[in-house]
Order: sequence, then C-alpha cells, then structure tokens
Amino acid sequence: MTVIINDGCISCGLCTEICPEEFEFGPEGTAVPIQDPVPDDLIPGCEEAADSCPVSVIELED
Ligand code: SF4
Repeated sequence: MTVIINDGCISCGLCTEICPEEFEFGPEGTAVPIQDPVPDDLIPGCEEAADSCPVSVIELED
C-alpha cells in the first residue's frame, strides 16, 4: 500500500500523532509519507489517519 497526501494539508498534526512511523512534516510544513510501500503493520494506523484527517487529503492506494 502507498500513502498519497494531496494538496490542502492544514498541518493539524493528527496523522503524525496517530502514525508517526508513516507521517512526518516535510520541509514545507505539511505532512509527507515516510515509507513506500507502507509496511503491513502500519496499515491500520494509516487507515485511521486517513479517516481522521479533517480535510481528507490522505489517500491510500493498493
Ligand atoms: S491529518 Fe491531514 S491535515 Fe492534518 S497534518 Fe495530516 S494530512 Fe495534514
């Protein structure tokens, strides 16, 4: 699985808090994915992050 973060991140910090192994803040101050592909054990955290993102910019691709 691959994490894609579309434009529009408001840097709220939810995804980096829910799954810090996969989400961090990049040089532009917005969230960026860390690992591609996402290791299996991080998939639940990524799904929770995607569901929780207030602006729904986290996309999960198989
Ligand atoms: S949860 Fe969404 S808005 Fe918040 S930091 Fe992550 S990608 Fe950005």
